[in-house]
Amino acid sequence: MNDTLGHQIGDLLLQQVASRLENTLRKSDTLARLTDETVARLGGDEFAAILPTVDSERSAVVVAQKIHAAMERPFPVEGHTLSIGISIGIVLYPAHGSEGAALVQRADVAMYQAKHNHQGFAVYDVKLDHHSLSQLTMISDLRKAMEANQLVLYYQPKIDIATGRLCGAEALIRWQHAERGFMPPDSFIPIAEQSGFIVPLTAWILDSAIRECAEWHRQGIQIPVAVNISARNLQDPNITTVILETLEQHSVSNNSLIVELTETAVMSNPDLVLDVVTLLESKSVHVSIDDFGTGYSSLANLKKLPVTEIKIDRSFVMDMKEDNNDAVIVRSTIDLAHNMSLKVTAEGVENQETWDLLRAHGCDQAQGYFISRPMAPADFLEWAHKFNATAKTATN
Ligand code: C2E
Ligand code: CA
Ligand code: CA
Repeated sequence: MNDTLGHQIGDLLLQQVASRLENTLRKSDTLARLTDETVARLGGDEFAAILPTVDSERSAVVVAQKIHAAMERPFPVEGHTLSIGISIGIVLYPAHGSEGAALVQRADVAMYQAKHNHQGFAVYDVKLDHHSLSQLTMISDLRKAMEANQLVLYYQPKIDIATGRLCGAEALIRWQHAERGFMPPDSFIPIAEQSGFIVPLTAWILDSAIRECAEWHRQGIQIPVAVNISARNLQDPNITTVILETLEQHSVSNNSLIVELTETAVMSNPDLVLDVVTLLESKSVHVSIDDFGTGYSSLANLKKLPVTEIKIDRSFVMDMKEDNNDAVIVRSTIDLAHNMSLKVTAEGVENQETWDLLRAHGCDQAQGYFISRPMAPADFLEWAHKFNATAKTATN
């Protein structure tokens, strides 16, 4: 609706949905009048309702059917007649969980089940959520690991291709789990995103990365640090404040932080992203579009966004020396980005041939195993000192 009819219509529609939802729930809940706080908008087009007097699956289903009936009538908004579809996920306390975060997460699982079952609602079913238990213990383990400082950020250097100089480093999270061993970020970041734990986690990541960056600067390594920010973080109204305050706390200048946002995150919520990116860039915190090429957007879509850089996804870069299609994609992305005054970083540079190709195509920066794997903080510092020393001798 936002895309076709505009933001304002979308907002008015959401307001009408909210009031129908409230009215339906008030009427259904006969035992105790619900307070306004029991219906909430979780963000985007998602709402949550708590029904304290509903005590069985059957009654919860009845309420879900009433909500469906209430949403079936079209919504008159500024001369348009809008019809919408909704999907409802139901969880029962305490049968499906005893913690708020777990219940919300399982309601989410049920909602996805609802999207596929053509009934428009679904009650949480543990059989359809195989990973849920291990996911829940994972989140509580992750929380403990964060509090016990068992999470570490590794740093992977970025090199300016034209000058051969070290020009930045990306912070990548590492978790050594007491029982499960090394946990790659791809195994827990998505779960942290789903559960909302990504919000405190990202605050920890920012603090840790910016503190480390301050240390680099004290040691004469004047480079910015890049931090990955999830789509879910953008829904947190405090995200920009957290970023700017953390920089201030560590006395690191704003232009020493680069925020990496994936192309998919940008596409999933363009309006929100525009606000956050515009604010950050106005404060000199630069934003980079990560995994570029995987989100099926076009550079034209990014034109409105005041970002400074794109990172071509490693899947294209890694194969460019064998696969001519990938080489063409990389090359034309570099050209288009340059036409839009964007800098281009290639990630996943694994060998000399790829480096040479990128150099020939005028790519600005390279990151990848060919230069170095991500390193623990102390190793990174040692590496950077050595690298800078050899770069100096080379230019002399
Ligand atoms: P990403 O942001 O695209 O990070 C780059 C990934 O590519 C890293 O994997 C890095 O180790 C890997 N890589 C770097 N050079 C090469 C190379 O030459 N060849 C190959 N094959 N791989 C290379 P990692 O550390 O496993 O991170 C995976 C993803 O997890 C990241 O992808 C990012 O999306 C997410 N992630 C990692 N740390 C954080 C974090 O602190 N916060 C958030 N929100 N996400 C993170
Ligand atoms: Ca990244
Ligand atoms: Ca990437």
